[in-house]
Amino acid sequence: MDAGEVLALGLGVTQPWRLVSQHLEIEKSPHELHLTLEADRGAMFACPECGRGCKAHDFSEFRWRHLNFFQHHCYITARVPRTNCPEHGVKRVRVPWAREGSGFTLLFEQAALMLAREMPVLAAAREMGITDQRLWRIIGHYVGAALERLDLADLKAVAFDETASKRGHNYVTIFIDLDRKSRPVVFAMPGKGKETVRRFKDFLIAHNGKPGRIAEVVCDMSPAFLAAIGETFPDANVTVDWFHVVQLFTRALDEVRKAEARLVKMPSAVRWAVLKAKENNLTSKQEAALAELEASGLLTAVAWQIKEKLRWVRVASTPQAAKWRLSHFIRYAREKVTGGPLLAPVLTAIETVEKQAERILQRWASTYSNARMEALNGIFKAARARARGYRNTQTFISMIYLIAAPLGQLVKST
Ligand SMILES: [Zn+2]
Repeated sequence: MDAGEVLALGLGVTQPWRLVSQHLEIEKSPHELHLTLEADRGAMFACPECGRGCKAHDFSEFRWRHLNFFQHHCYITARVPRTNCPEHGVKRVRVPWAREGSGFTLLFEQAALMLAREMPVLAAAREMGITDQRLWRIIGHYVGAALERLDLADLKAVAFDETASKRGHNYVTIFIDLDRKSRPVVFAMPGKGKETVRRFKDFLIAHNGKPGRIAEVVCDMSPAFLAAIGETFPDANVTVDWFHVVQLFTRALDEVRKAEARLVKMPSAVRWAVLKAKENNLTSKQEAALAELEASGLLTAVAWQIKEKLRWVRVASTPQAAKWRLSHFIRYAREKVTGGPLLAPVLTAIETVEKQAERILQRWASTYSNARMEALNGIFKAARARARGYRNTQTFISMIYLIAAPLGQLVKST
């Protein structure tokens, strides 16, 4: 085996192609290794449409970026012919080492995708020595192609939720398969609200799925969502994710705190004490702030106590216990919010929970583990970290699919 053969290894160079020259350019930094491929003289080439063997009609030179050779950037140059098929006319032939229209070899793209699955895109791009925009294009292409092959024939239980790709705007909604332990994302799209539910149904049908098979849907309490699910998946049981119950009261608490802060002087550490309260690892300063809050007689303290009481509902171990605890919680909270008009946001939250009680309680009857239902937020968090700096909706969606969808092999060998 000579040096040329070693360099051609793994490149996908097959007959009639062979490596004819190699040249290290040391005037450039980093150094560039240039490999030239050529087809055997008089070789026949397959028409890209029908595969019929044709003689070369004419040639043009193309160049591809290949995997780095040690620290040197590596390029492949080849004169690629066009065939003149009697049936399909003049067409550029496909080369075995790169996909059509790409300036990278398949091996390069495969390495780039492996890196992008494991580290932030910007870091992966730096490692490969390409711009991040080009890496995003590679990711977009392979994710799109793999997504077309996704088979949803067995899908029967989904959870979905929306998140902002940037703070406060550009929403993205994702759907996960509750039967999948890992890589559960089956659909992601820009936007939020009931239109996403309809689009998901279209996607499901286009991928072999049957809307009538969907037996369980987990989502939030938005009336628009619930109406859309009723119309789109009429046979499904609807469960409200507990996360959304907590979120509802957390937001109400925050509104009360802001309104009250305009009227009275709050204990200094109330803001973060209230937001982080009783999670874990409170500092002694936070403990003191909470104690001060509880003793303060502020309405913010009342809203906070109501929110905290949710934990007691959550740990109910049976559907009966949960039902009893939820109705007790509603009674308790209703009595507490009579304290003043500032507590109106909390009252609204209580009313929403009362109205959706049945769907909230479904959670205790569901066969799906709560951890599975809560996977959604972890996915959003991970995709955000990986797509840092490029949170336009499309890159965010590509990243969600790349790290959390069951896409299988992204680069199929040719
Ligand atoms: Zn042809």
